[in-house]
Amino acid sequence: MNFVQVAIPSPLRQTFTYKNQSKCDLVGKRVLVEFGRRKLVGVVTSQSEEFNEKYKLKQINEVLDDIPLFDKQLLKQIVSISDYYMHPIGIVFESFIPSFLRKAKPQTVLEKYVIKTEFDEIANNLHDLTKDQTKALHSIKAKDSGEILLSGITSSGKTEVYKHFIKDLINKGKSALVLVPEIFLTPQIFNSFQKTFGNKVLLNHSGLTAIQRIKVWLASKNKEPKIVIGTRSSIFLPIKNLGAIIFDEEHDQSYKQQDGFRYDAREISRILYCAKARIVYASATPSLNNINRANNNEIEHCVLDKRISDAPIPKISIHQTTQHKTTGGISNELLKKIAENEKAGHQTLILLNRRGYAPIFMCNSCGWIAKGNCCDATLVLHQNVQRLKCHRCESVWGIPKTCPDCGSHDFTYKGLGTQQVEELLREELPHANIVRIDRDAVSGKTRREESTTNIKDTKSKIFIGTQLLAKGHDFRNVSLVIVLNMDFGLFGADIHMQEQTAQLIIQVAGRAGRSGIENNVYLQTRVSDHPLFNLIQTGSYHKIAKELLVERKKLNLAPYINLMYLKAEDANPSRLRKFLVDAKKELSQEDLEIYGPFDSPVTKIGFKHRMFCIIQSSKKQKMLEVLSKFTKNTEKSKKEISTWVIDIDPINAV
Ligand SMILES: [Zn+2]
Ligand SMILES: [Zn+2]
Repeated sequence: MNFVQVAIPSPLRQTFTYKNQSKCDLVGKRVLVEFGRRKLVGVVTSQSEEFNEKYKLKQINEVLDDIPLFDKQLLKQIVSISDYYMHPIGIVFESFIPSFLRKAKPQTVLEKYVIKTEFDEIANNLHDLTKDQTKALHSIKAKDSGEILLSGITSSGKTEVYKHFIKDLINKGKSALVLVPEIFLTPQIFNSFQKTFGNKVLLNHSGLTAIQRIKVWLASKNKEPKIVIGTRSSIFLPIKNLGAIIFDEEHDQSYKQQDGFRYDAREISRILYCAKARIVYASATPSLNNINRANNNEIEHCVLDKRISDAPIPKISIHQTTQHKTTGGISNELLKKIAENEKAGHQTLILLNRRGYAPIFMCNSCGWIAKGNCCDATLVLHQNVQRLKCHRCESVWGIPKTCPDCGSHDFTYKGLGTQQVEELLREELPHANIVRIDRDAVSGKTRREESTTNIKDTKSKIFIGTQLLAKGHDFRNVSLVIVLNMDFGLFGADIHMQEQTAQLIIQVAGRAGRSGIENNVYLQTRVSDHPLFNLIQTGSYHKIAKELLVERKKLNLAPYINLMYLKAEDANPSRLRKFLVDAKKELSQEDLEIYGPFDSPVTKIGFKHRMFCIIQSSKKQKMLEVLSKFTKNTEKSKKEISTWVIDIDPINAV
């Protein structure tokens, strides 16, 4: 008999010891064990002949795998991921296990889902590369492993470069993983890769059914060279012979999970593959973090600074609303430009980062504003379904008939949402072809594909949408871009806000002028002389990033210092504050700076109050050690707090 350590999907940050009566080596296998009153599937992380038995141990109920699901090296890496993120090990393991195998079923039940694919040797539709692209390709191909930043302006042909690179890998019998930030982008990139690489291309994202996902998981494990296109969590697929991971639009916030296990897919790729695969970060607007790493020669860097065709770089101008008359929130002069552009047969793109009809619904008599009791956020009017929606927790409310404060029936709304702009444009330009692209309009497979077809079409059109519009879509005939109401992005207290605002504007501006026509970008704003706007007008992300980094360095902010947030939430605000004040005391020591507690940018979500502390240090290892100790102590002492989490390398304070 021996003893095994089992990682169980529980919120406790530890493994649990069980007795193993069989003589077999169980390391890396799934087992069924009793945990409290439940039976759970866990993974054996280690075993030993001896155990200092202080209390009565349970037997393993059942061994579920004949062949280990995890080899020794991967086990070790998963443990280090759990250590780094200070996240319960059983839950980290779960991320690597497809939902089918999280149940007490043997791996053999999956056999019927193995897809037989004939792998043909074709690579069609590959264009010849320009001199610059060839140079970039050589830099990427020069090594089999290690990280490289491919920063190339929009329309500089980055995708073509890594298609050529992948063709090479496939010929060497290796596979590639191409990560995209957004499920909405998957049909476009999947179709494009399928045209080139045929049935070697697999698609993986959360919109697939459990069976579709298990098929991809199984196909990942076979040794045939293949290309997986997927969103963030595809980093956990067991892809055999993986030669490269490509992060398309690597700056995108969606590579960081924002709740539960707050991993960053880029960090996970480093831990799992840095020594054996090439990691390529591609973007027109790279993250400041990766630019800084490239500046310090921690990662390689190659640049594509010319557009592939003679498409002119868009001209960006500030359009100050205080100097112009507006209709329904849009400057009359810009409306005129939209109409002219439409008439000329070109396409217009309007970015407004707020879905719904109007962000504020209020009583005209007394000024009452509709707010849910769920979150600290005003309810957004969705006119088309006649509902008020909370965009924080997605709860839906009826529109009141009478004002709860004064009994009046006279309601009004304030502010602009994408639906309202759509309505306004339909009134102003009744013959125009208007397409709205936001989360309400593109959810689901059919609508996702419809929108993709709409985008590819070069007919005269007006697109109105949220940041989804800016994410890597290949518009063909856009010559006018209008950005509405980005002012909030300039004044936020969160240090990441300016970086993200600049990336968004430069990205959306880059959608213009791909087919070589003259093109203009207007930023409608109330302020005109904000330093960031002045930089954005240059159109050079390189300049913007340089300035932002100078400022971050001056203020000793990330990426020049290691940053973590201790975030907590509780229904009781004083209990919440006390938890963070106590934590601050415990964490205050040499080498660590702690600030707070502060209210979160959204002080209440889903009936819980939220606060956070900022933790900074120039010594990352020390910081991780101190916090890891804190995590263990806090867990043992069973503090009365509903939720707390340490967000490592955070991208916002929400
Ligand atoms: Zn009222
Ligand atoms: Zn809510």
